[in-house]
Amino acid sequence: MKHLKFSNGDQMPAIGLGTWKAPDEEVKRAVELALNAGYRHIDCASIYQNEAAIGEAFAKAKKSIPREELWITSKLWNDAHLPQDVEPALRKTLEDLQLEYLDLYLMHWPVAFKPGVTRPKTDDEYLSLDEAPLIDTWNAMLELKAKGLVKHVGVSNFSQKKLESLMALTDQKPEVNQIELHPYLPQNEFVGWCHDHDIHLTAYSPLGSGDRHESMKAENEPSLLNNAVIKSIAQKHKSGPGQVLIAYHVARNCSVIPKSTSEKHIKENLAAADLQLDNEDLTQLDHMDTAFRYVNGEFFVTPGNPYHDIYDLESK
Ligand code: NAP
Repeated sequence: MKHLKFSNGDQMPAIGLGTWKAPDEEVKRAVELALNAGYRHIDCASIYQNEAAIGEAFAKAKKSIPREELWITSKLWNDAHLPQDVEPALRKTLEDLQLEYLDLYLMHWPVAFKPGVTRPKTDDEYLSLDEAPLIDTWNAMLELKAKGLVKHVGVSNFSQKKLESLMALTDQKPEVNQIELHPYLPQNEFVGWCHDHDIHLTAYSPLGSGDRHESMKAENEPSLLNNAVIKSIAQKHKSGPGQVLIAYHVARNCSVIPKSTSEKHIKENLAAADLQLDNEDLTQLDHMDTAFRYVNGEFFVTPGNPYHDIYDLESK
């Protein structure tokens, strides 16, 4: 398994397990299966509302897997951006996950809601970036690192513009940006820019997030898993299309967190670590005819809210 290296010597396994949309019983079983299969990187978030179930799986694994072998990521939800709310949010996540520390804590979105608002329905449930500046949230996250409650801090869904604005105000830049990446959204320039600035990338929704709620889907979304080019590369390597989509990120020196609760897929996705794509494959995957973003932030758009630059959440 390839690892992404951090400046203090820590290493994040390139392939991890995603946990969004997995209900309690399923996610607990999935995390147990994944840890038994050899996964050592699990991606969580408080908004997935399943961290307590994941924590039960972690507690069970304590007897057989030393904590330092695991890489656990979680994310600060948008309703806890005010500095005084950051540490309590992290402590709730640690309690739920039954952990003493996280390996990585991410600011989930560059969007702030009023405290206690899980999913805003009206404009006045948002906080503007003047009311909740990203740098204040970031500084509160750095304090968690200084206290040893998290080993690394980063962001998610940040564009180059948002990263540059934040980095102009701090000498401790995000170590990771977790964003949507796949052959329909390769973001080659942005990936290069992040790597030039020593910011690791984690690719989310690498398989096209097909189990999203219908209300989050566009009409006639293109499928990654059924794409003819991806299927032909898979055939060439005697692998599956999902494995090609995972190996793509590993080849680009990014980490990737496919979600699965199926035993077959969990094992298959980890085995993608052994799939070596060649330059011809990578050129094809980087230059597909289709461009598409599955998780586009539209759910943050209410008519008069302060986030009119929602499409600048990341570069297109
Ligand atoms: P995804 O991993 O692209 O796709 C998940 C879907 O693919 C599920 O329906 C899963 O079904 C299926 N699947 C898994 N392995 C497969 C395989 N080998 N062959 C065929 N189908 C397969 O979707 P995602 O959940 O959106 O993204 C992955 C993770 O990224 C999330 O779970 C979450 O941890 C993270 N994420 C973060 C953000 C953010 O804002 N930071 C946003 C989105 C996602 P089964 O379960 O039945 O296998």
